[in-house]
Amino acid sequence: MIHTNSEEHNDSNEVEIDPVSARKKLESASSLHWFHWVIVSLSLLLTFFAWYYSKSSLDARITSQFDREADQVIELVLERMQKYEDALWGGVALIDSSKGDVDFDHWRDYADSIDIEQKYPGINGIGVVHAMSKEEVPRYLAKQRKSRPDYHIHPEHEAKDLFPIGYIIPVKGNEKAVGLDMAHETNRYTAATKSRDTGDAQITGPITLVQDSGKTPGFLFYAPFYEGGTYEDADERKNHFSGMVYAPFVVKKLMQGVLEKEKRHVGIRLIDGEEVLYDEHVDSEADFDPDPLFKRAVDMELYGRTWTFDIWSAKSFREASTDSQPFIILTGGIFIDSLLVLLFISISRASHKALGYANSMTHQLEAKAEELKTNQIHLAERAEELEQSNAELEQFAYVASHDLQEPLRKVTSFCQMLRNEYGDKLDEDGEMYIEYAVDGAIRMKSLVTDLLSYSRVKTQGKKLEITDAANACEEAIANLDSAIEETDAQVIVGSLPKVAADNPQLVSLFQNLIGNAIKYHSTERTPKVHVSMEEAANEFVFCVQDNGIGIEQRYFEKIFVIFRRLHAKNEYSGTGIGLAVCTRIVDRFGGRIWVESEAGKGSKFFFALPIFQQWSHNGVSHDEFTSNRVYAEAH
Ligand code: ADP
Repeated sequence: MIHTNSEEHNDSNEVEIDPVSARKKLESASSLHWFHWVIVSLSLLLTFFAWYYSKSSLDARITSQFDREADQVIELVLERMQKYEDALWGGVALIDSSKGDVDFDHWRDYADSIDIEQKYPGINGIGVVHAMSKEEVPRYLAKQRKSRPDYHIHPEHEAKDLFPIGYIIPVKGNEKAVGLDMAHETNRYTAATKSRDTGDAQITGPITLVQDSGKTPGFLFYAPFYEGGTYEDADERKNHFSGMVYAPFVVKKLMQGVLEKEKRHVGIRLIDGEEVLYDEHVDSEADFDPDPLFKRAVDMELYGRTWTFDIWSAKSFREASTDSQPFIILTGGIFIDSLLVLLFISISRASHKALGYANSMTHQLEAKAEELKTNQIHLAERAEELEQSNAELEQFAYVASHDLQEPLRKVTSFCQMLRNEYGDKLDEDGEMYIEYAVDGAIRMKSLVTDLLSYSRVKTQGKKLEITDAANACEEAIANLDSAIEETDAQVIVGSLPKVAADNPQLVSLFQNLIGNAIKYHSTERTPKVHVSMEEAANEFVFCVQDNGIGIEQRYFEKIFVIFRRLHAKNEYSGTGIGLAVCTRIVDRFGGRIWVESEAGKGSKFFFALPIFQQWSHNGVSHDEFTSNRVYAEAH
């Protein structure tokens, strides 16, 4: 099957681009669509969600951090108070085991054993308060003055009970406290009676300790002891009340001892009722944060008092909990979203530009296509015109050469008759003229004959069919018999295949080429002609080789043009039509013809008949082709 160029194009797998749909696609790409906005919105939403999530978890983390620290502070205070209480109850146990009282030396031993300074920072000492009625005072004073002559109870007051401090260790720094009567002042007295009646450890409300030169808030911590052990009933307790082990606290010292400031990130304010016991929420505190992140106020029932723990996050807390992650997420996300928007905008701009370009290209292409179409129409018209004029010319050449034959024949025969019958009546010039006329007529006759055979190649060619080239060549050689004999030429024919051809034309082809090979022989050697064939990829390449006069390279193309001759007619006869006829015949067979030659050495005329094309063009079946090929191979 033959594939023409256009068919090949149609068969190819190229994807055809429809300019209209391509332009529509570009148009839709050149503007921002809802899905662009959806993507941007989703991305923004995601950013805000990530930011919110990160911020919430950060908030939760720092809230729990604050709660933990606040709890820790409260627990530390409570723990420490518990420890102090234990120390007081230790003293009570000592007194109980000493039959209700201890002397100064024993008490000092106990106080030294518990190592107040190291283990109980925050208390000024640990002492014993004795309880008595006014009547018992002289006996008590006498007893105390045995070892301490200057011991006295102070200050004087109206209450009927007296709770003087017997001794307190360390002695140094607590001198003013010795002999101080706890009943002289409401805070001290109330807590003492409460402790007495409940049997529990109690603390006083805020007081100023006599031994505190700074006059800062303080309190006392009592643990009661009774004559003869412990009692369940309040009245019994009252009746058997002997005194209390006590410890004076300066709150500031207590807090500083209890809470290691550098290890925490919260500040504390301690309030008892209306009175502030301890306060870190002041500008003088280095870590104070006037605008704290967190605040918490906790009321605690503590040994008969209600203490309010007012806890604020400190500056260091703010610094430690500052985490830029949510901010980075938010700004990073917004930044990426902005980039996304810019990207979409730039894509849409690029598409816009491409659309403009595509539009102008489409217009140009449309204009070009229009132009091409017009050209094609013109070309088709011209081709038709040419075909028509060619056909007319062919017709003219045929008719002219055909119709000229008869008058020519008459001119020739009458000229010859004139020469034969009246030749002796003419002078020399007359004879010469008649000779010229005969010559001219004969030449014209051969010209007309050759022209006729040239035009017949097309007009009277027969359908191509399988033709034995060897037979055709043999017939041509037979037609050239007299020329061969005349020149004593030697013609050798190699194996030739069957081809698709028009037999008379194939004979004519061989005859022209072999005839020329003999005609243009060299005077120096006997003409030798060799006819052969070689099979190339898709064609049979025939060669007619001679050892004649040869042709200069510059004439290789010209000699195939009709009426072109390289010699005068008196040198070599001829009309200059032979090779033009050969070209036409080979053309008809779908082949090509060419020459290779060297002047003085001989020529090789080649003609190639393309096997495949030849068969297809002329309706010869593939089977025939195969059999011919087999034939060609067999030879
Ligand atoms: P003609 O032979 O009638 O002149 P052709 O068309 O056959 O016309 O040949 C054209 C010219 O080609 C010839 O005039 C001749 O010069 C040259 N020619 C053709 N065949 C040969 C050949 N075998 N050897 C040398 N010259 C040749």
